[in-house]
Amino acid sequence: MTKPTGKLVIKNIGLLLSGKLEQPILDGDCLVAIDGLISAFGHEANLDTENADTLIDAGGVALSPGLIDSHVHPVVGDYAPRQQQLHWIDSTLNGGVTTMISAGEVHMPGRPKDIVGLKAMAIASQRWYENFRPSGVKVLAGAPVIEHGMVEQDFKELADAGVTLLGEIGLGSVKDGPTAAKMVQWARKYGIQSTIHTGGPSIPGSGLIDKDIVLEADTDVIGHVNGGHSALPDDQIVCLCESCQRSLEIVHNGNERAALLTLNTARELEQLERIILGTDGPAGSGVQPLGILRMIAMLSGLGNIPAETAFCFATGNTSRMRKLDTGLIEEGYCADFVLMDQAQHSPGKDLLESVGQGNLPGVGMTIIDGVVRTLRSRNTPPAKRLPALLG
Ligand SMILES: [Zn+2]
Repeated sequence: MTKPTGKLVIKNIGLLLSGKLEQPILDGDCLVAIDGLISAFGHEANLDTENADTLIDAGGVALSPGLIDSHVHPVVGDYAPRQQQLHWIDSTLNGGVTTMISAGEVHMPGRPKDIVGLKAMAIASQRWYENFRPSGVKVLAGAPVIEHGMVEQDFKELADAGVTLLGEIGLGSVKDGPTAAKMVQWARKYGIQSTIHTGGPSIPGSGLIDKDIVLEADTDVIGHVNGGHSALPDDQIVCLCESCQRSLEIVHNGNERAALLTLNTARELEQLERIILGTDGPAGSGVQPLGILRMIAMLSGLGNIPAETAFCFATGNTSRMRKLDTGLIEEGYCADFVLMDQAQHSPGKDLLESVGQGNLPGVGMTIIDGVVRTLRSRNTPPAKRLPALLG
């Protein structure tokens, strides 16, 4: 990876979405980034916009932090063996996603399940996505699926080698609460975040993880709390929301009714900061290039959540929970953005109202580390207005 250099100026922003639940909309029409990091934002008149290396006229469209998919199953490069799919990451970038977080590289053909093998693959996966970002997308991978027989030293070795995530607990042989809890604590001790496969089996070979196992394992993320695919019964989902403070991850591949139950319960608890979004693709349901945008529109439209708040679920909430340097409009954060506008001929008076009525936005541009990666999306409906790259 070469370090990004130069000055990026984005003018005429019509709506500045922050990623922050406490203030989802910022005052301002302009943003400046230097060497790939946000350096200033606000009103153009108050900012130093001279000598830009890259100048963008947003044309009045919205700018949001690039979307984060908190739950993907990458394998290698931009290829997904599960559905024999090429370029799924590039397609997802066209859906506004600039960062993806692996919940385990489980679709690797011949995936090793012995301990030395699974550690080696996790370390290699972390490296190959660190060294090669498909279409520029940040893929945080190298998430081992834990197996019986692992000892504390294994987690230390993984952490020392750069592994920061565990794959979904339940996809390997560890499916019981006591073993999961012990290994999650070892992982946490060495700075490795954990997640768990909540709900019924996803495909033949995967297993049921119910609320008792989830609560006992105490992972950092309650992975697909709405199931992937099959959700737990309603009372168990409510119990998970009420009985702990861990992140509530809602995924596209799950049950939409259970997603709304989770959202409504979190809202009653006044804990919307726990909601984060993922697709859980590639998987048995395929790949969803627009999955995160579809979740935002669905939760906003059916869950009666303001669209600007729903965008936080896929940006700032995930950033804060996972301690990322992207996903918030804040000085020093990565200049990772999606520019978008209301889709042509969609109802509503503007982007937020249109998304609030359940419609997808039209993506006009994506930017990662201050570098323009895509112009008008090939996958979203066309936007009313488009940003222009002036030079
Ligand atoms: Zn799962």
